[in-house]
This record gives sequence, C-alpha cells and structure tokens, in this order.
Amino acid sequence: MIVAERKPLEQIFSMIERYKRILIVGCGECVTVCSAGGKKEVEILASALNMVRSKEGIPAEIRQETLERQCDGEYLEQLRGFIGEYEVVISMACGAGVQFMAEKYKNSLVLPALNTKFIGVTEEQGVWSERCHACGDCKLHLTGGICPIARCSKSLLNGPCGGSANGKCEISPEVICGWQLIIERLSDLGQLEKYEEIIPINDWSTNRDGGPRKAVREDLRL
Ligand code: SF4
Ligand code: SF4
Repeated sequence: MIVAERKPLEQIFSMIERYKRILIVGCGECVTVCSAGGKKEVEILASALNMVRSKEGIPAEIRQETLERQCDGEYLEQLRGFIGEYEVVISMACGAGVQFMAEKYKNSLVLPALNTKFIGVTEEQGVWSERCHACGDCKLHLTGGICPIARCSKSLLNGPCGGSANGKCEISPEVICGWQLIIERLSDLGQLEKYEEIIPINDWSTNRDGGPRKAVREDLRL
C-alpha cells in the first residue's frame, strides 16, 4: 500500500486560513489502513479545525466526505454535485488522489493534507515500513524476494557495500543492511548460488528517471 502521514495541523490550518467554506475529503484505501486519511482522520481534522476557528472567532462551514478511492474517476464523480459550493477542498488521499481530484475539478482549489511517504507494509500495529520504490522492472526473483532498490540505502544491485558492518547499514545501527537480508534469505532458500551472479547495470528508464510512466492494458480498454 501507499503509506502517508498527516501534515502538521498548523501547516494545514495555515494553507486554508483565508477560507470559510471547506470540504474535507478522505480516501478509504491505503491512507485508511495507515491511519492517515480515512473517515476517522477526516473527523479528527474537521473537529480540530472547528475548534481552532471558533477560538479565533472565524468559524468555518466544513463538510466531510470519504470516498472509496480518490485515484479512481468513478468515485470522484460522487463529489460533482456539491464540490463547486466550497472555496477549498482538503484532500486526505495520497499525492495521486489529490492530483486526480484537481484534474477532474479544474475550478476547485484542492490542497493536500498528507505527506505521501512510500510503498510499504504494516510491520506491526502503528509501524509501517518501506518495501518498494516502484522501479518498473522488478528484480525480486534475483534477490530472494528482498528488494535491493528499496531495502539498500544506495539501491545497489550487487552488494553489500563496504559500509555494511555486523549486518547493519552504515547510515544507522538501527537499519539492517538490505544485502545482508538478501544473503540470509538466499541462504535460507538454498539458493546462495544466485548471490554469485552479477546483476547487470540497471536500466533506470523504467524508474522515475525515464519520465512520467503509464501502464496500458489494451485488453482492458473500452
Ligand atoms: S525491484 Fe523494483 S518493483 Fe521490485 S520491489 Fe524493488 S522497487 Fe519494487
Ligand atoms: S550497508 Fe548494505 S544497505 Fe547500506 S548502503 Fe551498503 S549495501 Fe546498502
């Protein structure tokens, strides 16, 4: 899932300080799972905003909505009937959702309430960690299912580097060396011979370096 966290309340409040009619829109998918932008977080943001505005003597008219997803046009359509009545829309989706809403509603000011962090997993309750950089050319079959791009701080395709010590990455004693994980996993799988194979220099054109990407499935198009 895409992992995000809410921007500091002060930052959100200062983005919208001049507006009185405010629509807050949550997203029911990834950002709900990581407790950043679902229905509950929309309610918390709305009530914090209400409190601050009443204290300041400049009350706001706030509407709360939570869509199934903001990265799908069919769900964004649910806002069409009333989005124009609001001076500003605060989206609690990831960056993709915020932008897609702004594309669909060109006359609406759509602002982000979250910082989108990474593609990751729920490690334990309240802890999310990065697993994938969406490089566009998955190499997990070569590395025992541990991502060298996301888990190695230098995204090395052949490692570890000279900074690996006692299984930890040189950036922090808290961070396990990604290549240590790969070697251990290959060893557990009885596939350590894969470690001896040099992975060729990466073609980064499938990554963000190749420009904005698009996925097209002709068989699914209408
Ligand atoms: S190799 Fe690329 S696609 Fe596969 S997990 Fe790593 S970043 Fe993601
Ligand atoms: S110590 Fe390991 S994880 Fe850190 S940069 Fe070197 S190879 Fe990558």
